[in-house]
Amino acid sequence: MEEFVSFVTEEAAPPSAPGEDEHPALALANSAVALPGGHMADLLGTPAQAEQWLTRRDLAPADAGLAEVCATQLRSLREQVRSLLASRIAGQPALPAAVTAINDAMTRVPTASLLLWDEKAGPCRATPHPTTAIVEHALAVIAADAADLLTAADAARLTACASPPCNRFLLKRGRRQWCSTRCGDRARAARAYARRTATTDDATSPTQQVTVHRPAPDA
Ligand SMILES: [Zn+2]
Repeated sequence: MEEFVSFVTEEAAPPSAPGEDEHPALALANSAVALPGGHMADLLGTPAQAEQWLTRRDLAPADAGLAEVCATQLRSLREQVRSLLASRIAGQPALPAAVTAINDAMTRVPTASLLLWDEKAGPCRATPHPTTAIVEHALAVIAADAADLLTAADAARLTACASPPCNRFLLKRGRRQWCSTRCGDRARAARAYARRTATTDDATSPTQQVTVHRPAPDA
């Protein structure tokens, strides 16, 4: 069957993978989901989608008015983050360009939460930034989170979803290797199908009269 790529809506994408809620960098890495049948769901496919993605994570105000160039910047950072996560999981050296991209994004605008003293409300902290730098600020926060994710204790739990064709990353909890129950169900169904096929082959083989029961691998 010929592989084709089409873009589907966010509703078709599985729910967020373990770790995405704590790590916007992981959510960014998982924002283009490979679905069965050669489909892709790109949650940053259009400027409007990219804006919604950022707004949902409090990384941009509503009606920020993102342009295509902003969505392109986000998609570009996504590729760099994905490359770094894959290198970390494989225990391989990172692409120097990916490391540079993270450091550039992180240092282009200040992300420090400054102390402000409101006349009425008193002290508070906020990260002021001009509206022209909304995307730069979001990129900086995500890049800083990527650096944290790659170096913190959590990094040992980073893994890629073990249910093809899924391309998402997750932070493993226990022995679970799937990014979602949907992926787990698909992997289990594929395994059951493989077992059934193997059993059918055995039955048709004249030399194979004894059925060997093997313990099923853990789900
Ligand atoms: Zn998955």
